[in-house]
Amino acid sequence: MADLLPFVAEQPLVDHHCHGVLRRVADEAALGSMLSEGAGWPGGSVFDSQAGFMFLRLCPPVLGLPPHAGLGDYAARRTELGATEVSKRFLSLTGTSVMCVDTGFTPEPITSPGELADLAGATAHEIVRLERVAEDVAAAGVGAAGFADAVRSALATRTASAVGVKSIAAYRTGLGLRAERPSDAEVAAAAGHWLANTGPGAPRLADETLQRFLIWCGVDLRLPVQFHVGYGDSDVDLHRCNPLLLTPLLRAIQPAGVPVMLLHNYPFHREAGYLAQVFPHVYVDAGLATHNLGARAPALLAEALELAPYGKFLYSSDAFGLPELYYLGAALFRSALSVHLRSGLDADLYTERAAIRLTRMVCADNAKRAYQLGRQM
Ligand SMILES: [Zn+2]
Repeated sequence: MADLLPFVAEQPLVDHHCHGVLRRVADEAALGSMLSEGAGWPGGSVFDSQAGFMFLRLCPPVLGLPPHAGLGDYAARRTELGATEVSKRFLSLTGTSVMCVDTGFTPEPITSPGELADLAGATAHEIVRLERVAEDVAAAGVGAAGFADAVRSALATRTASAVGVKSIAAYRTGLGLRAERPSDAEVAAAAGHWLANTGPGAPRLADETLQRFLIWCGVDLRLPVQFHVGYGDSDVDLHRCNPLLLTPLLRAIQPAGVPVMLLHNYPFHREAGYLAQVFPHVYVDAGLATHNLGARAPALLAEALELAPYGKFLYSSDAFGLPELYYLGAALFRSALSVHLRSGLDADLYTERAAIRLTRMVCADNAKRAYQLGRQM
């Protein structure tokens, strides 16, 4: 990777969307299964990919191994050092000062926001996942008639110290949501249908009316509403995750003035950039894709910033589980930003003073403003 511009290298990051790290030591199989959103297959390796090349180029030296060390040696070194030491090494190298942590995805034991931030030497804030709160309310046995009030009250409690909420409608119904705020009667009817049809086990919310209800609850709480957009694992129907599908809903939310944060966006990062340009309350990032695209991260950032105003673009790692992913997300973002700004400086598009200002904006200040983080710190 090219040398970083000094002001990009030194700029602390606000990671506005990430998750906890694993408590256990990841073995070779876990490294493969968590490297990307993809799955392994017989006779091949997920490490033969842009994400894999960059992982094995950048991560082994952090653990005292040469670049391109074998995966077996790498996993053995991880075990030798232990989960906490490995996490500390990678997370402290990210240069992250603030983390906004989505606590709604816990397929296995992971660190709390506070523990994650301690490992990184950062401050943590919580982002509450809307569907998770609704599913917890359903699991507690509330009836259809009381569902809307019970969710509103649970959300008020759960978000008391949170800085935002998140919708994973993309994973459940797709982003083709209607714009209107559903009435309590419509919510009761939809909840009745959902609760009557949930099988055994934890209830899983996937209902257009209820997803929309939750989003409007977030708007009413006046908290920034994050949306999963685009790239995700095989649970997602990617063709239903184009952010342009959100246009009617974005238009309806605009008068409320509540920020809407479009996460990931790849391969629809250009569409997302358009939405950030035309809607004053829409912000975008390129999280998750940054480390998955590896050496192509500079191209991704350049495309994402074709239309998106620099005052609307945020940094996120969207890392989950492996501390390496926070490190790769940050390292590749800094490298891509450096390449991008250097080409602007070479073309005399702006002064170095302006490049320093743009760096502060996309790395930290846009997030601090949108989430009003100054109020908490
Ligand atoms: Zn995420």
